[in-house]
Amino acid sequence: MNAKEVKDRWPGFSLPSNYVGCFEPTSGVLKCEESIQTYQELAEYYGATILTNSRVKSVSISNGKVKIKTDDNSYHSEALVVAAGAWSGELASMLGLELPLTPVRKSFAWFQADEKLHHQNTFPAFAFETSQGIYYGFPSIDGAGVKVGRHDGGDSINPDVRLLAFGEKETDKGDLVQFLNEYIPNVLQLNYGKTCMYTRTPDEKFIIDLHPNYSNVAIAAGFSGHGFKFSSAVGQALSNLIISGKNDVDISQFSIKRFN
Ligand SMILES: Cc1cc2nc3c(=O)[nH]c(=O)nc-3n(C[C@H](O)[C@H](O)[C@H](O)COP(=O)(O)OP(=O)(O)OC[C@H]3O[C@@H](n4cnc5c(N)ncnc54)[C@H](O)[C@@H]3O)c2cc1C
Repeated sequence: MNAKEVKDRWPGFSLPSNYVGCFEPTSGVLKCEESIQTYQELAEYYGATILTNSRVKSVSISNGKVKIKTDDNSYHSEALVVAAGAWSGELASMLGLELPLTPVRKSFAWFQADEKLHHQNTFPAFAFETSQGIYYGFPSIDGAGVKVGRHDGGDSINPDVRLLAFGEKETDKGDLVQFLNEYIPNVLQLNYGKTCMYTRTPDEKFIIDLHPNYSNVAIAAGFSGHGFKFSSAVGQALSNLIISGKNDVDISQFSIKRFN
């Protein structure tokens, strides 16, 4: 769509005339909390035991057997899958593997919407590639306001140190307001903001692979801010890797060896 077509369809946007848009009618927004809840219920239905608030403190392999230690317990197994987000690097290094993973602080916020323009039934989820950076967002869902965040940039952090809350950095709000000012101008009143972490790889592609030295250890990490939607497919790839060592889907682009 050219800029005029976008603005005619969604008057809530303001676009420079040389901008182009690509509308994906099949795209949408995932309700991530309900998704995680469902994954847990299904896993337990198929016999998984989920131990929350049980931090893994050490991982070791001897004679091909896996040993896991938490503060209160030890666990032994035939195989291991590491999918520990910002802490995957820490666990992988316990198995002698250094992964190029950088946890990064990300901030995003909800701004008061004009529900006539930005309601979930009339306004799309969006991503903008601008000269200042890559911004993404959602329409006002259940009256929460328009959600906006920036995909690129962010400070690298230690995931064990308290994550600065939204607003503790001046640019948290300022950066989003300058984007809104230019591209979604009727949305300026901040409702609230939040922060969380991306775990970036140098090429912003995922790591889904077996440990180079242990064929009974699979690792999934480095989702670089765009991995949630792939969770089911990644889960399937990991279980295939552990059970048969191979996948019908080509996952070679996610290999650890690409960083050698
Ligand atoms: C602001 C923001 C917006 C995003 N938007 C999108 C989006 O629109 N679409 C999309 O697809 N993705 C998006 N993402 C990315 C998505 O959230 C991540 O790619 C995805 O959640 C990564 O999943 P994960 O399982 O690797 O890590 P996590 O979800 O972080 O899970 C890792 C888990 O391991 C646990 N853990 C870590 N270490 C240990 C240990 N030693 N012992 C026990 N447990 C441990 C952690 O507590 C955590 O629960 C976004 C991320 C952010 C921050």
